[in-house]
Amino acid sequence: LRRNPGENEFHQAVREVLDSLGPVVAKHPEYADAAVIRRLCEPERQIIFRVPWVDDSGTVQINRGFRVEFNSALGPYKGGLRFHPSVYLGIVKFLGFEQIFKNSLTGMPIGGGKGGSDFSPRDRSDGEVMRFCQAFMTELYRHIGEYTDVPAGDIGVGGREIGYLFGQYKRITNRYESGVLTGKGLAWGGSQVRTEATGYGTVFFVEEMLKVRGDSFEGKKVVVSGSGNVAIYAVEKVQQLGGTVVACSDSNGYLVDEKGIDLELLKEVKLTRRARISAYADERPGVRYVEDGSVWELPCDIALPCATQNELNGRDAAALIANGCAIVAEGANMPCTPDAVRLFADAGVLFAPGKAANAGGVATSALEMQQNASRDSWSFEHTERRLADIMHGIHDRCLETADVYGKPGNYLAGANIAGFIQVADAMLALGVI
Ligand code: NDP
Repeated sequence: LRRNPGENEFHQAVREVLDSLGPVVAKHPEYADAAVIRRLCEPERQIIFRVPWVDDSGTVQINRGFRVEFNSALGPYKGGLRFHPSVYLGIVKFLGFEQIFKNSLTGMPIGGGKGGSDFSPRDRSDGEVMRFCQAFMTELYRHIGEYTDVPAGDIGVGGREIGYLFGQYKRITNRYESGVLTGKGLAWGGSQVRTEATGYGTVFFVEEMLKVRGDSFEGKKVVVSGSGNVAIYAVEKVQQLGGTVVACSDSNGYLVDEKGIDLELLKEVKLTRRARISAYADERPGVRYVEDGSVWELPCDIALPCATQNELNGRDAAALIANGCAIVAEGANMPCTPDAVRLFADAGVLFAPGKAANAGGVATSALEMQQNASRDSWSFEHTERRLADIMHGIHDRCLETADVYGKPGNYLAGANIAGFIQVADAMLALGVI
């Protein structure tokens, strides 16, 4: 705490992992001897930089850019960029720390990192977003590369932003280095299914949770928070598997559509028009729009928080439990507060932590890197099958590890321990570096 003052989200993420590691260190004292945990908590490198750019009115704007290169024991640093006004070092470090274990769980050769800026693309013109991205990359380019550090998208960074970032990287370096960024467009080195991967992957994970209990999505009522990249494709996959998503949200409010979300309309509003979800409610009769309420007040069988960190607190958890919710899976990073997670455990609600449940995005990014390295591109069906297999593998690894360490059925402990062991073993093998 003294070493990283004021970085609340980072402390929260570290504490959650360390809480699970007691049985591991008891069994493997060599991790403690080599100070593996203390080394893991200290990023290998942190870069903070000025991003000056000119807005449409000719005014110079200054934002702050970050890239935290956390751990490269398993491969090049890998993790998204977040553009949101709330971004500061504590957020980037929490995300980078989580990313180490998530990437390890995928079984792919990728280390952990994260970055971003306190820039908000919302209400900015395309030209402004482009100039900001160019200014951001004008500094970032010297720190990244196919074998060094490979950023991708996150909140506020989608296909448009990745395009502008890649264009500037290409211009500055004079290299068509496809593997330097993931989440690229299909015409210029992107992978099928990357856009859908995080949302689809979260739902594949829940499908496995249901399957081992002899159940399925058929007939289940699902509530999703957020209405961005992760949320939209979580809705899509739930519907394909026979569930009904009755609600989604944005930071202004939530909508309830008891007939089931009209995916085409949601995509039109969010992806084409870049409008608020209240516009969806305006256009579909019978839809209720609630400003400033909590979407977790709604009764459901399965809850998928897909918006942002700490969006589901103890009170929300109590409401979900009282309404009979049986499964909570984190599509977002750390959306559930520690007291919410404790309440779920006490009530026997199955809980899938983000580092396992939302790992499909980064796993598909690693598949994009594979395709770039072999100058190949795979079909949608093949890539989706690979994603489903990876998510099933992560699910099984979490359950098996939880069993081995005396926490049967505890996905949180299983994810933390399995993710940790692989990185820790690599760090031991590479020596004290
Ligand atoms: P988007 O920017 O596409 O969408 C974010 C959604 O969350 C929007 O609906 C946004 O609403 C809402 N939101 C953001 N901040 C807040 C807030 N403070 N309070 C309430 N709602 C908020 O981001 P993504 O869908 O890509 O990311 C969502 C989550 O998933 C994040 O936690 C991210 O780290 C995580 N994630 C994303 C991956 C990816 O591949 N994209 C991979 C793994 C995890 P509004 O428009 O009102 O801001």
